[in-house]
Amino acid sequence: MTELDLVLEGATLPDGTAASIGVAGSRVAAIGASLPAARERIALDGALVLPGLIDGHVHLDKTLLGDAWRPHRPGASGAFSVMERVAIESEILASAAPVEQRAAALVELAVSRGTTHLRSHVDIDPVTSLKSLHGVLAVRERYRDAVSIQIVAFPQRGLVSCPGTLELLDQALRQGAELIGGLDPSGVDHDVDGQLDAVFGLAERHGAGIDIHLHDPAFEGLDELVQIAARTKALGMSGRVNVSHAYALGMVPENDARRVAECLADAGVSILTNAPGNHPWPSVARLREAGVTVIAGNDNIRDAWWPYGDADMLERAMLVGYGSGFLTDGQLTDALDLATYGAARVLGIAAYGVRVGAAADLVVVDARNVAEAVVTRPPRRYVFKSGRIVARDGRFERPLAGRTTRELYS
Ligand SMILES: [Zn+2]
Repeated sequence: MTELDLVLEGATLPDGTAASIGVAGSRVAAIGASLPAARERIALDGALVLPGLIDGHVHLDKTLLGDAWRPHRPGASGAFSVMERVAIESEILASAAPVEQRAAALVELAVSRGTTHLRSHVDIDPVTSLKSLHGVLAVRERYRDAVSIQIVAFPQRGLVSCPGTLELLDQALRQGAELIGGLDPSGVDHDVDGQLDAVFGLAERHGAGIDIHLHDPAFEGLDELVQIAARTKALGMSGRVNVSHAYALGMVPENDARRVAECLADAGVSILTNAPGNHPWPSVARLREAGVTVIAGNDNIRDAWWPYGDADMLERAMLVGYGSGFLTDGQLTDALDLATYGAARVLGIAAYGVRVGAAADLVVVDARNVAEAVVTRPPRRYVFKSGRIVARDGRFERPLAGRTTRELYS
């Protein structure tokens, strides 16, 4: 048997069974009632071990964490406007700390809350150019031992309506972004075919995945979802296209939402929600029933758009459950699936989970089961990335590249 570097003794697994977990190198190598001696043992006394949490949608470049507190600035008209918000954001970020400093603060907070994988949208436009991308790429490299980061090149100011953006998105995909984003083809660009042609064209050219912000309402948004599904099928991109928010699905009669949900399931298009408190959003239960993979993300965290957020995916799962009227243990477990196994499928994370052969990305919390963890969001006792401790008692700890936990902490 493989020699174990670490044994987490006396764990409760997500399925409720009691067992110890053995880690060799960066992998879970054994799970059982009694495991052979290891170089290091940590007694868990029945604590719950979850797979590393996955934040499917954040904006590392926008956060004001790591900087002074900046009060939210409401728009002049009182009504929400994307372009007015973008203008306010530009003014605020012009005097904010560098993107590397702010993004690093958010990454450390996310890891301390148990996030081991995240997908960040990064603004790419003629005003920002590739500056935010370069900052986030530097942060990704700096924290690569603590968290895996996917980058979406995001046209925050529009795509076909904002000259120069297409060329910059193309460069971003050559320089390290893995996915191409989009934004309200109808509401922002007023050209659904034009934006979708550009997004799917870039995806095809670069072999990139797609993740589109879609706030366009009701039947307008529904039509766009059908078109996104059709294009996904035509290009054989099943499982590689995600639509974030998709408010439209929560704004139409149930029969219409179901018809489009079946279309999304058939095409392999997933949906992300942040379970907003002030806007209709898709029914997680009905999407899952239709066979759509639904995932969750924190989206804006303490930035010019939104003062809330703690980068905590257990809290986000709770908000999904709370807003969905989920009450049973099964439903609460479903809510966490949006930040664990479901999200792993959408982000293409192989070797995921609390199982032998998976990467040892693990979160230890004081809870008796998954439902209780979602409800109580307990402090993260330990967070492991690739078998090494990256947070303890809710605090980020920097792993040193190439060192084992034993070498670092014994
Ligand atoms: Zn977003």
